[in-house]
Amino acid sequence: MTDPSRKLEDLEWVGGHPSLDYVNTVHAWTGDTPGAEYLLAYADLLDWHRTAGLIGAGSARAFGAAPAADRAAALESALALRGALRSIFHSLATAGPIRQAALDHLNEVLQRTAPWRRLEASDAGVRCRWDFAGAPPEAILGPVAWNAAELLEHGKVDRIRECPPGDGCGWLFLDSSKNRSRTWCSMKTCGNTAKVKRFRARREDVAASGKRRPR
Ligand SMILES: [Zn+2]
Repeated sequence: MTDPSRKLEDLEWVGGHPSLDYVNTVHAWTGDTPGAEYLLAYADLLDWHRTAGLIGAGSARAFGAAPAADRAAALESALALRGALRSIFHSLATAGPIRQAALDHLNEVLQRTAPWRRLEASDAGVRCRWDFAGAPPEAILGPVAWNAAELLEHGKVDRIRECPPGDGCGWLFLDSSKNRSRTWCSMKTCGNTAKVKRFRARREDVAASGKRRPR
């Protein structure tokens, strides 16, 4: 059996939005072998949020020092949130009906994490920051959940795309290309695979037509 886990440092960030990149922490949502997981432990969740710039080093240290059972429960909640977000964004990318249950899941996380949001005065006016002092490990769900809500309410949801199913991907991304023509999550992986497939198919066509050619 092959190891279904993936290394977080190898993860590509192609979503163009934190909440989409968060859903892309499963190697593939579609295809023959979906499910290979980047977030295997709560520590991976902390690393991902640090890399995304969503939490500071101090918060990561405090969360990481919480009791193991609380961290395990928080990871489970974080993966459940990811499932709900995937459902919502998949519906938007494929113009399908959005499941109210998925939105209510997100609503519930928004309410649960609201206590650590804080409006603060800054040079640029007022900004909303996260104050995680004394927060339990599941508070880490806040930044992604609130980012997702902002994207859903104010973002360019008509630009949300899903890397074509059938190729073992299903990653999400915002298509910011001028003519809205981006198809693949990444030209390094899926786009390249498609190119190789097309090249092979063409070569086989040429070979087949060569055989049929009269001598
Ligand atoms: Zn892809």
